[in-house]
Amino acid sequence: MKRRWTVTNETDHGRTPATHGSRIDAYVDRYAARATGMVASEIRALFAVASRPEVVSLAGGMPYVTALPLDVVGELVADLVNRRGPEALQYGSGQGDPALREQICEVMRMEGIDAGADDVVVTVGSQQALDLITRIFVDPGDIVLAEGPSYVGALGTFSAYQAKVVHIAMDDQGLIPESLAQTIYALQASGQRIKFLYTIPTFQNPAGVTLNLVRRRQVLEICQKAGILVVEDNPYGMLGFDGEPLRALRADDPDGVVYLGSFSKTLAPGFRVGWALAPHAIRQKLVLAMESAVLSHSTFTQLAVGQYLATQPWREQIKTFRELYRERRDALLGALETLMPEGCTWTKPAGGFFVWMTLPEGLNSKAMLPQAVDKRVAFVPGTGFYADGSGSRHMRLSYCYPQPDRIREGVRRLAGVIEEELRT
Ligand code: PMP
Repeated sequence: MKRRWTVTNETDHGRTPATHGSRIDAYVDRYAARATGMVASEIRALFAVASRPEVVSLAGGMPYVTALPLDVVGELVADLVNRRGPEALQYGSGQGDPALREQICEVMRMEGIDAGADDVVVTVGSQQALDLITRIFVDPGDIVLAEGPSYVGALGTFSAYQAKVVHIAMDDQGLIPESLAQTIYALQASGQRIKFLYTIPTFQNPAGVTLNLVRRRQVLEICQKAGILVVEDNPYGMLGFDGEPLRALRADDPDGVVYLGSFSKTLAPGFRVGWALAPHAIRQKLVLAMESAVLSHSTFTQLAVGQYLATQPWREQIKTFRELYRERRDALLGALETLMPEGCTWTKPAGGFFVWMTLPEGLNSKAMLPQAVDKRVAFVPGTGFYADGSGSRHMRLSYCYPQPDRIREGVRRLAGVIEEELRT
């Protein structure tokens, strides 16, 4: 499929300003310049509404942690305090627990990555890794390349460091290498500083698409030639529905890629354990940045995750998650196929949590949201996934949390809203 989604070029902090009710902010003229880029995402405003029980939320990306053996996790945590309390409740190293870093290397081996524990930094979710990497590379006005659309939490981080985000076009095979090359060429020719390419190559958030194998090679080649660091964000890589995990970009370019991983989707986000795997010099900077941010990660949750990996059948648990999400993906795709009016199109994810839907010409997902919530269904408007708030013909639908029947009911409600919009 060759159709491209809406992409805007050269954008900076033009994201939708936050509204703060009727309260006036007395400190408005005292914030640092970087705080002007800190605006509430559309997802945040939505959460309050979407969490009402009568609303079917196809909005949030919350993993279905209920599928974990919670009693086992409970025993494991109690056992940790009883047996290793003084260690688990103490400060730890800025780089992270050495044994956990070894275990992380074992996890990454499943994606073809051959790395040593010394190159891993444990972070507070991969979100903190994103923050640290941006902190050490980005000066105000520097350019960060990112897929269009891209992960809303990354856009928030880039905006907080006053980066200028330039989106690269993608289609249902992921990032388009020709667009990447052309954009890099144009930016470099005009003397602009590109600090890195941020990409989610596998089961992308929000688009649900995966960079194909040929393009993986091309993207790496283009970035190597242009001297551009790649930040590969891969929280969903293990949640593929068809077979073995894909080979990570990092597996083929240890010097040019910083890899970000997370236990949020393969175990639970509540532990807040993620990591960065980086070339040695960058890794050293990351540890210093980590220490200046939080001294050290929580030893307690690191050891809990380590204990889980050491004593529980975690590969089997990931399979359980995959089956569960596959069933939900099928429920969503099946319902879209049956119920959506003509003119709507959507991606068909082979893993992860998300489907990206494109509405018929003339419709605006953001404008439609109040009616949808009125009809008790929620989604995330596409505008949150572009740095300049474009993407209004798109929406993200997530299937990770609601049960299949609720997903079908949500799609039925949403189709009704879209049909009504088409009539008016
Ligand atoms: N990257 C992507 C693409 C994500 O979707 C998320 C979470 N939704 C994160 C990073 C951050 O995840 P965490 O901090 O929980 O590891």
